[in-house]
Amino acid sequence: MIVAPKIRGFICTTAHPEGCAKHVAEQIAVVKKGGLIENGPKKVLVIGSSTGYGLSSRIAAAFGAQASTIGVFFERPGEDDRTATAGWYNSAAFENEAKAAGLYARSFNGDAYSDTIKTEVIDAIKTDLGQVDCVIYSLASPRRTHPKTAEVFKSVLKPIGEVYTNKNLNTTTGVVNEISIEPAQGDDVAQTVAVMGGEDWEMWMDALIAADVLAPGVQTVSYSYIGPEVTWPIYKNGTIGKAKEDLEKVQQALDAKLAPLNGKAWVSVNKALVTQASSAIPVVPLYISLLYKVMKAEGTHEDTIEQMDRLFRDRLYSGNPQPDEAGRIRVDDWEMKPEVQALVGQRWTEVNTENLSEYGDFAGYQASFLRLFGFGLEGVDYTAETNPNVPVPSIAS
Ligand code: NAD
Repeated sequence: MIVAPKIRGFICTTAHPEGCAKHVAEQIAVVKKGGLIENGPKKVLVIGSSTGYGLSSRIAAAFGAQASTIGVFFERPGEDDRTATAGWYNSAAFENEAKAAGLYARSFNGDAYSDTIKTEVIDAIKTDLGQVDCVIYSLASPRRTHPKTAEVFKSVLKPIGEVYTNKNLNTTTGVVNEISIEPAQGDDVAQTVAVMGGEDWEMWMDALIAADVLAPGVQTVSYSYIGPEVTWPIYKNGTIGKAKEDLEKVQQALDAKLAPLNGKAWVSVNKALVTQASSAIPVVPLYISLLYKVMKAEGTHEDTIEQMDRLFRDRLYSGNPQPDEAGRIRVDDWEMKPEVQALVGQRWTEVNTENLSEYGDFAGYQASFLRLFGFGLEGVDYTAETNPNVPVPSIAS
């Protein structure tokens, strides 16, 4: 079939197999340019490894440090007349590239919140790798079925306490208007914490510790975001921010649990970037458009791969992780530079539909969004017939 983007609001319901493969290849090239990560991880488990920050983490570990990787994700395979999700094609491409480079790679497609997937992954570690020395936790999900109670929790993106009104960008039309978001009600906060907080990360680490599959000196990292004050009501101080606070509490608990192994748990605060998860957050896409313009002009713009390359190379495995006062790794440091934030903040007050292309990088936003689904990549013939039914080699069909 010939595959074109089909955009519905903030999601694209199609993905291009060759385009996704090209996107993965471009990310690999970025990491390889930096050379070998000295003393990098050797055996890495990435939970949420198919898109966004998790995919880039897997690529940075494999192609930066020659690590064996196990990836866990929840994606839909393709059929003869229907495309897979982008994360499926990314994972297929990743495994093919890893194999060509002589690197071990195995993937699991299923619900990472479940006990079943945890058991399957632990069995694979035991059989194939013995132990892992790095665990990346990069899930972003709107819901979670609790493995013990079967209760289904739903995460919401809402302010807490009062209505939040601010500028918002329609990422399809480029119209800048105002949005008002009603505050969290009932158990919204508890539900969001149950999905995006730290409980599942801790369950994974407890299970890995109990199975004795963590190597001495193991590091585990989960990702968070802070951002500028203009987004705090919907992010840092909103329902998702409460979940991230919970993640930090779990990080401290995990530090204690990993101490006998000389291990370390981290929360890494990453930059705001276009991913499938972030495009669903109100207000944030307008901020990202303004941020991209400023950081591209300054020459400091990074995508997920540059961020994760820096995380592994310059922080986790450099011997100098440079934690902040709360013990977090900050690869959002360039985003949060006062001069960057001052300019973005000034433009935030002035931006409207008419001047968006002057103050913001809306074209860059849209291009980044399409690239997530394999569209707009150089060298891919989008007019050619393509087979949507692509296997992930390690997953039997
Ligand atoms: P993403 O949507 O690109 O990736 C989510 C991953 O989770 C995918 O691999 C998906 O398959 C997997 N997943 C979702 N539900 C699953 C399930 N039930 N079982 C197994 N796998 C499942 O998201 P992202 O933006 O890369 O987010 C990853 C983390 O990074 C999140 O914690 C997010 O808050 C954080 N973060 C994101 C940004 C940003 O701007 N995008 C910034 C800072 C931190």
